[in-house]
Amino acid sequence: SEAELDGDFQRLMELATAFMGSQVLFTACELGVFDALDPAPRDGPALAAALGLDPRGAGLLLDACAELGLLGRGPDGAYALSPASRQLLAARSPHTQRATLSFLGGATRAVWARLGGAVREGRNQNPEVLGVATREPFAAIYRTEPERLLFMRAMQETWSLWAGPVLAAFDLSEFRVICDVGGGSGALATACARLYPGSDVTVFETPEVVAAAQEHFREPGEAPPIRFVGGDFFRSPLPPADLYILARVLHDWGDGACAEILGRTRGGSALLLVEAVLDPEGRGPLPALLLSLTMLAQAAGRERTEAEFRAMAAAAGFRHFRLRCPRGPFAAMLARK
Ligand code: SAM
Repeated sequence: SEAELDGDFQRLMELATAFMGSQVLFTACELGVFDALDPAPRDGPALAAALGLDPRGAGLLLDACAELGLLGRGPDGAYALSPASRQLLAARSPHTQRATLSFLGGATRAVWARLGGAVREGRNQNPEVLGVATREPFAAIYRTEPERLLFMRAMQETWSLWAGPVLAAFDLSEFRVICDVGGGSGALATACARLYPGSDVTVFETPEVVAAAQEHFREPGEAPPIRFVGGDFFRSPLPPADLYILARVLHDWGDGACAEILGRTRGGSALLLVEAVLDPEGRGPLPALLLSLTMLAQAAGRERTEAEFRAMAAAAGFRHFRLRCPRGPFAAMLARK
């Protein structure tokens, strides 16, 4: 029918132009729009002048932001941060996702532009797109020190929102010694040490990430309640622990590499896996599938189903497996011996 065709056309065009909405968001971040409106609203010409932008271009970008719900428009014509932007885009908000957006709008978007190559070849496009010499995912992600810091900040931002739900999904108070393997800047580990004050929490990370965490991610004057150990989880033994946490680590890697990492956790009594989990058929939901395509194009892994995680944990000796879905995009899976 005509009505169906109209709806289908509209949905197709929305999908085809979705990248333009992303680009408006990335560009507004890059040009400093959200910073210039924090804390006070401004009208278009004042904002354009403050940021050195063409007034007409700025007006179009600002109205696009408003239509996307990123900005509000007052009756006096002034633009202001929307409540969502105040929480998630204002650089000073404790829940800001600005580094995440820079990472997604930078390296991730660049490799997605070669999604066809990734699908044809079944491997990441980092050498072609970013000019790195290997397909080891972190050679690209950590190509330069600023890029390493950006990725660490992006990973950290996630936990400003989701550490609480993920760490409270199971009562972890019985585990005294906890090791967050590939724990980045230590944000999840710090939240864990605070939530379970009796615990002794260590982050195991690459030596470069450990150095950057210690130099750039300590809150002034505040000693982190966690320790860091540097190493390579494909070569070095992990620090002994009762509980090993692996958050967004397994999805970077293929099954063989995951088995190697998990093999090093055998001394523990349990694993906490934190990942975006695919539905039982592995065909959805869309956010997890898109993340899986990102792992193909940018890393060396994929998202997995609960059954796949259960099998991986069992193969490493952790046979009692439970999955819980707290608030937010990640499932928590506790696997015990
Ligand atoms: N777990 C953190 C989180 O969820 O925020 C970080 C997840 S990030 C996708 C994967 C982490 O694995 C990175 O911080 C990276 O530095 C670390 N990693 C990669 N290869 C590693 C290796 N060979 N040994 C130790 N850590 C490694």
